[in-house]
Formats: sequence, C-alpha cells, structure tokens
Amino acid sequence: MRALSDRRTRAVRRKAAQEIGVPHLGRIAHGVAPYIDIPQQPLPAKRRAAFEAHLRSIIAESFAKADGTDAQPEPPETDPGYAKRLAEEAPEPTVLNAACIACQGDCCLLGGARHGFLTEETISCQRWKDPGLTPEALAETYLSYLPETSTTGSCVYHGPQGCTLPRPLRADICNSFQCSARRQLADAVARRPGTGAVVAGLSRDHVTDPSAGAAFLRVVSVTAAGDVTVHDHLSLPALRKDLPED
Ligand code: SF4
Ligand code: SF4
Repeated sequence: MRALSDRRTRAVRRKAAQEIGVPHLGRIAHGVAPYIDIPQQPLPAKRRAAFEAHLRSIIAESFAKADGTDAQPEPPETDPGYAKRLAEEAPEPTVLNAACIACQGDCCLLGGARHGFLTEETISCQRWKDPGLTPEALAETYLSYLPETSTTGSCVYHGPQGCTLPRPLRADICNSFQCSARRQLADAVARRPGTGAVVAGLSRDHVTDPSAGAAFLRVVSVTAAGDVTVHDHLSLPALRKDLPED
C-alpha cells in the first residue's frame, strides 16, 4: 500500500516542489502522510462538561498527592523519563510539521475518547515546573486553550490548524509520538538538511476511488525558511492499473 501511495502522489509532490522553486524531488525532503478530512464543529456541551470534569479530577488528584498547594511535587513516579519528557517539550523543526499539516491530525483522533491523554502526571509536571500554580489557575489555563471549533469526535484541542495546546502543557505522548510517516520525513530531512519539505497527505482509503481528482489529497510544502504553503489546487492523479497491489 505504501508503494502505491508513493507512486500515486509522486507527480503532485514534484509539482509542489516546483511551485516553491525546487526543480525536482531530488533536491528536497519529501514524503507521504495519512490524511483525514473531518469537519470542525463547536465542542458539544456534553463533551466539554466531561472534559472539564476529567481535568478537575486529575488536578485534584495531583494536589492530593502533594498534600497542599505550596509543596513542589516529586517528578511523577510513573514517568521515569522525566528529563526526556522536558526535552521533548522543546519546539520542533518547522519542516517536520509539513507531515502533520498535510495529515490534519490522524493520530489526534485517538485523543477524543481520552481527554487529550491528560493525566495526573501531566498536571504534576506543570506543578513541578511552577510550584506556585493553584488548582483554579491550572484549570483556567487548560480551559483557555480549548479552540472555538474542533475536529468532530477528535481531541478537544484538535483545532482547525492543529493542536491548540502549547507543547509544555500537553501529555507526554503528545510530544513524543511520531507516526511512521513523520519518522520517515525526519529521515528524509536528515538526508537533505536545509532543503525544506514537501508532503502529500493521502487518505488510507484512496484506492476506493481510482479516478483522477478524487478528494483524498492535501499537499503541503515548507521551505527551509519555514514558509508553509497548502497546495490546494493540486489534485490526485488517477490510480493507474499498472501500479503494484502491495
Ligand atoms: S504524527 Fe503522523 S498521524 Fe499524527 S498528525 Fe502528524 S503525520 Fe498525522
Ligand atoms: S492534546 Fe493536541 S497533540 Fe494531544 S491529542 Fe489533543 S490535539 Fe493531539
């Protein structure tokens, strides 16, 4: 399936590269990512209430463990890679975001039923960084980052431009997880550093419509300087019969 996706999107990746002044794909990091196309909607009141209840519960759990608001909590016992976690909060190279912008957050769908993966450990991490935080300040901070609209059924922070929660406030997994498409793009960037990136987001079910122009595609480029372009006018080529069925 991977080879099929690569071949079906090669021409549009090449075209996107040319549109940002790169004459051929050999001169830029490029790859294929998943792609989801799910409408945005205001968070239903029931889901917002459930999220707020979860948030207040994990905050209370963290404070109960630390026995008061003034004590600096111990680094989460269940998170032995605490230093690693802090390192993973750092901003990432913009060029890698080409994959996630093209994809529109396939992995964040899993955060829908899990309240953005936020746990007591996430809250204790915030308190470890700033021991003066009160329960109300923490709740207000997390609630303030809820977007006006989020991807239907997905994580409460899955806004129209991606995650609205700053990296330092996210659950560990949200900063450490990289899908295979993103890892492959990171490898491609390492092979061609400083060139920017082009990524074709392609729906997993694209083979269900072999016609040219099928609505399964979102092509994104990021220049070495960090300029992002969504190449909306590029359309998916037909699925040719001579492509491998792997
Ligand atoms: S990590 Fe992968 S699945 Fe998640 S948004 Fe980025 S490209 Fe999509
Ligand atoms: S908090 Fe952000 S990164 Fe984590 S699942 Fe939600 S939208 Fe995705």
